[in-house]
Amino acid sequence: MSEKNTQDSSDQLPEEIRDLLKSSPFKTFFVPKAEKPSGPVAEKGEGGNAETLRRIQGFNLKPREIRDYLDRFVIQQAEAKKVLSVAICDHYNHVRQCIENPSLREVDYAKQNILLLGPTGVGKTYLMRCIARLIGVPFVKADATKFSETGYVGGDVEDLVRDLVKAADGDVELAQYGIVYMDEIDKIASSGGAAGGGGRDVSGRGVQINLLKLMEETDVNLHSQTDLAAQMQAMMEMQRTGRSRKRTINTRHILFIVSGAFDKLSEQIKRRVQSGSIGFAAGAAGAIASSRARVRHDSDFLRLAQSRDIIDYGMEPEFVGRLPVRVACQALTAEDLEKILVASEGSILSQYRADFSGYGIDFEISQAAVRGIAAQAFQENTGARGLMTVLERVFRNFKFELPSTAVKTFRVDEATIAEPESVLRALLRDNAQKQHGVLRADVVAFAGRFETEYGFALAFDDGAVDALIEQSLAADKTIRALCEEKFHNFHHGLKLLVNEDGGADARRFTITREVVENPDKAISRWVVERFKKAG
Ligand code: ADP
Repeated sequence: MSEKNTQDSSDQLPEEIRDLLKSSPFKTFFVPKAEKPSGPVAEKGEGGNAETLRRIQGFNLKPREIRDYLDRFVIQQAEAKKVLSVAICDHYNHVRQCIENPSLREVDYAKQNILLLGPTGVGKTYLMRCIARLIGVPFVKADATKFSETGYVGGDVEDLVRDLVKAADGDVELAQYGIVYMDEIDKIASSGGAAGGGGRDVSGRGVQINLLKLMEETDVNLHSQTDLAAQMQAMMEMQRTGRSRKRTINTRHILFIVSGAFDKLSEQIKRRVQSGSIGFAAGAAGAIASSRARVRHDSDFLRLAQSRDIIDYGMEPEFVGRLPVRVACQALTAEDLEKILVASEGSILSQYRADFSGYGIDFEISQAAVRGIAAQAFQENTGARGLMTVLERVFRNFKFELPSTAVKTFRVDEATIAEPESVLRALLRDNAQKQHGVLRADVVAFAGRFETEYGFALAFDDGAVDALIEQSLAADKTIRALCEEKFHNFHHGLKLLVNEDGGADARRFTITREVVENPDKAISRWVVERFKKAG
């Protein structure tokens, strides 16, 4: 790969910083201009480049195949899946053709950048993440609100392209075919929009214009002007290797997805539809009529949005023009949320199952419990994100307590979801009794071994068992280890108390809490009592 930009890295720094660096110990990092390498320069990702090109050249997916893949992970959103599958195939087919026949680069081509509308948490990002994973290209996401026009406060939209290179592990070639996703685009609508837009200020317009440049085609410097650390790193690398890496990335083949909830827009379209007002194309009438029956949420009106609506909302006309593919994702119902839990391959429930199994606990959940979670999540009104909120809330204390108990199977039913705290308390209570039973059996087993070995029957009463359990829990020792330690020399003392001709009764001793607390003292007391009796 040839090096287009052979400018010294230090040239990109502001004048005053350059002066400062020249007079500081860092000046050794500067490579004198005369030593600057020229000609083709090796790249970190070079080995991977051939592989990347092979992969893109080998792109031969059909829209239906992409849709089928998405169906495995994303519930609902049939329309979005269809539209995205077609756009993705068109985009990567075009990329492939350009690689095969570079003269095609000169032919005008309208890139399939995408505008995704729809409420939060319904799978907009998830759809794109799944697609990027399927194709094997890097993916980055950011909220539009974090950028500013100048890039000095917040960030610069070009950072997104640089992040793509990071996501591709420094492989610039691969990053050139990546996917950039920008959410909350409606929040940078300029406030002058007729819809009142909810936009912030004029700088939102500046961000749109900057983004527009990226969406068309531009070369982005790999090192941000404001990122001194990256500049220094590049200089150090040049010093070390004696050559500079390619420092720009072209955005021609990067696919841009922008998305937003456009809340106010859906309200506006809803009002327009409900009042039956004019202004809609005749063809929309049918769509409106059929949509009336199917509308479950205001956001469902977004699929009737036209370019004009989005421009009126406060988006720049050129910006909207660069987003030829437009599709609305629908709000999810409680039934959809239920399906996400049980049918989506990426279901968060499988994560919980794995979390519990990490402690050796089997996690079982009933259908009614799944329904309960979905119903609660639906109330959150944050789409599938509500599922995570509810699951975290329901299971947080179980995750804290259960790993330290003897519970090996955690059965989640409706009651667990409705009353997690009381179910947990009951479970811990049951478990304590169960654990008590197991520990008591350990005491009995010790007595059995003691009798086999020494011929003395030790009858531990309830007080003694409780004392042993308390001590075993406090010292974090097993009952077996604790008893062996406590009664290590006990049989010697017992021998003093029993005549050779004593019967079975004489070889039987009741062990009380007092004995457990001090076995030697008990033996002494028993010996004294024996002598007193004998006297
Ligand atoms: P947004 O629409 O705001 O971009 P996301 O796609 O980020 O929402 O959704 C958040 C998470 O919720 C996803 O990572 C995914 O686990 C889950 N999710 C959202 N929508 C769906 C869906 N339709 N099917 C399956 N999972 C979904």
